[in-house]
Amino acid sequence: MLLSQKIKIEVSKQDAATLEFMQGKCRGLYNWWVMRLRNGERWPGWQQTKKTLAKSRVHDPELNAVYGKLLHEVYFRLDKAMQAFFRRVAAGEKKPGFPRFKPRHEFFTLCYPAMYLDRIKGNTIILPTGGGGKWGPKRHPNVIAHLTETPPEHFREVAVSRDAQGNYYCSFVYNDAEQKEHGGKDNTRKQRKQRLMRDNGTVAFDLGIKTLATGVTDQGRFYHIGGFKGYRWYNKQLDKIRSKRDKYKKKSRRYIHLSKVYKRVSERKRNKQCDCLHKASHLIAHRLAERAVVIGDLSQRQMVIKKHEEETPKERNKRRIRNRMVYNDWGLYGFVQMLTYKCLRFGKELYIIDERDTTKMCSACQNKQDMPLWKRTYRCENENCGLVMDRDENSAVNIYERFLARLGPHT
Ligand SMILES: [Zn+2]
Repeated sequence: MLLSQKIKIEVSKQDAATLEFMQGKCRGLYNWWVMRLRNGERWPGWQQTKKTLAKSRVHDPELNAVYGKLLHEVYFRLDKAMQAFFRRVAAGEKKPGFPRFKPRHEFFTLCYPAMYLDRIKGNTIILPTGGGGKWGPKRHPNVIAHLTETPPEHFREVAVSRDAQGNYYCSFVYNDAEQKEHGGKDNTRKQRKQRLMRDNGTVAFDLGIKTLATGVTDQGRFYHIGGFKGYRWYNKQLDKIRSKRDKYKKKSRRYIHLSKVYKRVSERKRNKQCDCLHKASHLIAHRLAERAVVIGDLSQRQMVIKKHEEETPKERNKRRIRNRMVYNDWGLYGFVQMLTYKCLRFGKELYIIDERDTTKMCSACQNKQDMPLWKRTYRCENENCGLVMDRDENSAVNIYERFLARLGPHT
């Protein structure tokens, strides 16, 4: 399957300036098209738009200093955005999301198709720039980037990006099957051994806010996988920095400095959280012995609290904290995506099933009762049952049972 490896690169000051120049020009071209489309022009598809590049070069000769394939990628990228937009419109979505302008403070990712990259020598990769040959003398020499890790042997394309601190990265897209054939890098990487898989084993997970995932296996064993814990601390820091910043005049020295600090801290938070989700999904996909992994369908879940009239200040505060958490910090949707590809990669089967009422239902007697979020323990109200169980564990058992019930006797 296709995977991606992101490697930090080191470039000279001059080369960094070249990368900045090229991404600025690519973004300009992209935004120029977005502007035309926003003014109601029809999208002619990338084949037709590509033909307009010659005209754009006449209009802005500086484009000649940008590597041509990067400019082509701009059209592909916009085409993808437009096709996704059309798809959403066709699906009747309320907010189909028209492609947006790319802001100036963000780095416009540069995509190099692999076949145009010269062989990598040692850990040095040469990223071409525009000009030379029939285009006349090169304005910027090719960028010589030093890779801080060994890249995969066979790759498809390379994307150059920058983070908030101004570090540059190359992301290599590669097929892991192609690597192994050639005794590639997977052997050189330290890898933990995958546990022996139990082919008829099943583990069902309840995904939640307090605990990232609570699971139960066919052998009745429970797993508790905690999520990222530090978001509260980070949010407090971020709020502090922002309110401090907003006391200064925009574009003043202090304001700019505090903006940088804010960016740095929020990136650190994002990285930590992402790392945590990666580890959790890796644990489930790679380290657990059960072959079948079952989770509930998140799209059916109402996580966001809606605003209603006459809410008390306390309710308002609660709603804001909760929704910030769901939108910014939770990352469960990303977690499911990671889980999907990791399960595929390690030969596991992922099932996503209807999870309606799995928290409300008693796993022993199927009695249903309301379970507001603050109730962390399920206490069955049915007199003959009286089950007392952790809320998430109860829900995991329900998901497991539902999964079994769904399977026919001979499948
Ligand atoms: Zn019960």
